[in-house]
Amino acid sequence: MIPKETISSIFEAARIDEVVGEFVALKKRGASLIGLCPFHNEKTPSFNVSPAKGIYKCFGCGKAGNSVNFIMDHEQLSYPEALRWLAKKYNIAIEEEEQTPEQLTANNERESLYVVCSFAQKNFSENLWDSDEGKSVGLGYFHQRGFTDQTIQKFQLGYSFDQWRGFSDAAIKAGHKLDYLVRAGLTISKENNEPAEPGTRDNQPRFFDRFSARVIFPVHNVSGRIIAFGGRTLKTDKKIAKYINSPETDIYHKSKVLYGLYFAKKKIAEEDNCYLVEGYTDVISMHQAGIENVVASSGTALTVDQIRLIQRYTKNITILFDGDSAGIKASFRGIDLVLTEGMNVRVLLFPDGEDPDSFSKKVSGAELKTFIKEKTQDFIAFKAQLLYNESSHDPIKKAGLIKEIVESISLIPEPIYRSVYIKECSRIMDVDEQALLSELNKLRRKKQPDAQRQEEKENQVPEELLHFAEGEKAVYKIDESSAEHQEKDIIRILINFGKEKLKIEAENEAGEKTEEEYSVCEYIIYEIQKDNIEIENPVYLKIFQEFIQKQEDVPDANYFIQHPDPEISTTVVNILSSPYSLANWEKHSIGIQLESMNLKQSAAHAMYALKIRKIEMMIHDNQKRMKESGNWEEQLILLEEQHSLIKAKKIFSALLGRIVLK
Ligand code: ATP
Ligand code: MN
Repeated sequence: MIPKETISSIFEAARIDEVVGEFVALKKRGASLIGLCPFHNEKTPSFNVSPAKGIYKCFGCGKAGNSVNFIMDHEQLSYPEALRWLAKKYNIAIEEEEQTPEQLTANNERESLYVVCSFAQKNFSENLWDSDEGKSVGLGYFHQRGFTDQTIQKFQLGYSFDQWRGFSDAAIKAGHKLDYLVRAGLTISKENNEPAEPGTRDNQPRFFDRFSARVIFPVHNVSGRIIAFGGRTLKTDKKIAKYINSPETDIYHKSKVLYGLYFAKKKIAEEDNCYLVEGYTDVISMHQAGIENVVASSGTALTVDQIRLIQRYTKNITILFDGDSAGIKASFRGIDLVLTEGMNVRVLLFPDGEDPDSFSKKVSGAELKTFIKEKTQDFIAFKAQLLYNESSHDPIKKAGLIKEIVESISLIPEPIYRSVYIKECSRIMDVDEQALLSELNKLRRKKQPDAQRQEEKENQVPEELLHFAEGEKAVYKIDESSAEHQEKDIIRILINFGKEKLKIEAENEAGEKTEEEYSVCEYIIYEIQKDNIEIENPVYLKIFQEFIQKQEDVPDANYFIQHPDPEISTTVVNILSSPYSLANWEKHSIGIQLESMNLKQSAAHAMYALKIRKIEMMIHDNQKRMKESGNWEEQLILLEEQHSLIKAKKIFSALLGRIVLK
């Protein structure tokens, strides 16, 4: 844990223009700076940085945040990692806060596994570069495969001696515990729990190396730490497995790791595409050929977790297949999973008998790039073509295949994409578009009862755009299920104007009119607590609670932008920079000025809008209960309630109307 005070000093030091400026060329425009967005591809700049607010916002892709968020996103780091990154840049010392004994143990155990893996990598690399056996066997093999020294070093490749337990002995000698060697998957122990003495003279050692007589491929996690290994034997004996890999450990979960992602992530985001290949050597050869946005799922079918890992960087994936891959059709199911996740899938087939590794050795880097560019096809079109070729003369087979292709299309979450694909497939497979469409609808109804509802939600115009279209006048869409937008508006006003003073008219006990001064914060808290209104959005609630705690010294926007809870800081940045109040930032400040001149009206307006929405939600709920209730007495009571709710809504609506008319 990094102490709060340190986080504050990091935020203070890390000026947004300086932090962003390290990666993006910024130009002054008005009060803000503008440049090309590093998170998506663009030719005209729409990436805005506001030094005054300490935030950035891209109007092209919507990314927004503070300095720490920027580093998290740009360098693909976690929140504490980003803080450490900035602390290092600004020479701020971090003294970690104490952890609970459980946290400490869990972290220490995992940490010990990382340490052991890092030691192993160094040990294997030393073997490769500094020993006679390593140089002649291991390095010789890599060179013969065409890997350059630079490549071998970049991927930290290594070699394990042809010995029973050369590695384990070396590790124990260096002070590592056998227990951790076993738990890191590097050492196999015959008696799991009994620590064996190093150097015992058993004929059968009680523990031995998992990897021996193999060249070693370390597996890195997203932040570059080594978590596992793959080893390829150099023996031609058919009985020996060509590749062996680390087992699942506390730091290595196969289904959540992609080989090469650490080296590829930046390029994946830049190129907005990720190549997926089969294994270690394909990734490495492609890198050496100058294509760096490549990852491998290492022998297994792609998992949802792996797809989501890729999705952090891009929505586009290109799967590279061996030329002789009989497995292409077998992989269709796996690809369907990728479609379900909403990614655009392309495929590339290498010439007969070639895989990315072998092919990249035969041609130059430039030729490889051209080949990939020209031969990449859309997956659905590829599948349709393949199926069509197989079945064009067999009508019965064709009917089955149509079903198969429509099944893939039905998994795509975006309706627009689905309709484009239906058109395309009707052309490729020479079938009526209408026939495909009705098959599609049948499938979607059957498979995903929720899909349609989800879709309706997605197709709605976002509230922000409604606001945007209407200028500063708020338009409240009827959606009885949530008060999200009204809550957001209240939070927005609290953040922008919480400290400001309002004069509120009231009557004292003698019935005389008095005028009292409150802060906007006090007024809103009073109104919300008076009517027992619950803030439902958990992040808004957290923010609201901070206002309750700090009524004496009301926090401002800056306080929340630099909030140590990244959920709060990003939410606030998004509220402050949402398109609804932000056609551009210049206009935004004018909008805010107008609003602050009429603060009482704005605050009351937002308050009533929230109350009306809450009443609408109660009315909606009440209606549902009336419908479900089989008891007429209960129904009568509910009806009674319904009337008073509707009355309350009328009163608030009238108040709201009066305010707007003023
Ligand atoms: P060869 O020199 O015979 O072509 P190779 O080392 O290139 O051998 P292939 O059999 O061509 O290996 O396999 C291609 C890729 O698949 C390799 O890069 C390897 O990383 C990966 N691979 C194969 N088997 C496994 C396995 N059991 N576990 C993990 N990766 C594997
Ligand atoms: Mn091969």
